[in-house]
Amino acid sequence: MHNQKALVIFSGGQDSTTCLLQAIETYGRGNVQAITFQYGQRHAVELERACWIAQDLGIPQTVLDLSLMQHITRNALMSDGAEIQTAENGIPNTFVDGRNALFLLYAAIFAKGQGIRHIIAGVCETDFSGYPDCRDIFVKSMNVTLNLAMDYDFQIHTPLMYLTKAQTWKLADDLGRLNYVREHTHTCYNGVIGGCGECPSCILRERGLAEYLAEKP
Ligand SMILES: [Zn+2]
Repeated sequence: MHNQKALVIFSGGQDSTTCLLQAIETYGRGNVQAITFQYGQRHAVELERACWIAQDLGIPQTVLDLSLMQHITRNALMSDGAEIQTAENGIPNTFVDGRNALFLLYAAIFAKGQGIRHIIAGVCETDFSGYPDCRDIFVKSMNVTLNLAMDYDFQIHTPLMYLTKAQTWKLADDLGRLNYVREHTHTCYNGVIGGCGECPSCILRERGLAEYLAEKP
C-alpha cells in the first residue's frame, strides 16, 4: 500500500491515534495526512494533544473549524458545565447529531483535492456508546453517498469497528506503540490530563487497558 495515500480523521484520542499509527505502518509516513475538526469541544486540551501528536509523528495536519455546529445543536461535549448523562433512548448526551456524517463529508472533499482515496476513521460499534453514526451500516452508506456525490472511488476504512477497547490496546501494542498511546493520547470527556477516571470515556479506556494487560502474555 506504499504507493497509495491515506487521510486519517484524527482527534488525538486513543482510537484515532492508533489508526494514525497503523496508517503510517500501512501506507508509509510520507503518504499519510491527518484532518482534525474543531467543533466547539469543551476542552482545548483535546485539540492541543491532536496537534502535538501529528507534529511529533511528522504527519501533515489540517485543522478545520466546524464551530458553526454550536449554532445548530446543543450537546454535553460542547457546553461547559453540562453533566454527561444517558437519555432514555440509550443515547448519551455527548452525542452530536450528524457529527460523523459531516466529518466524513469534509474529509472526503479535502481528500479528493489531494488525490487521496483512502479515508480512515476510528469509529467503533463494539464498545458502542449508542452513537448511531458509529455503526458500520452508517459508514458503508456514507461511503456510497460520497462516491456518488463526488464521482470518486473513496474507500472508507474503519479498522476498529469490531474491536473491543482491550483489542484496540493490543493493536497499539502490536504496532510497538502501547506506551506512546497510553502517555500521549487524550480521551477524557472532562478534559483532565491523564484522565479523570470517572467519565464514561475514561472508564472505557481504563477498563480496556486493564483487561488487555491482564491477558497479555
Ligand atoms: Zn474522564
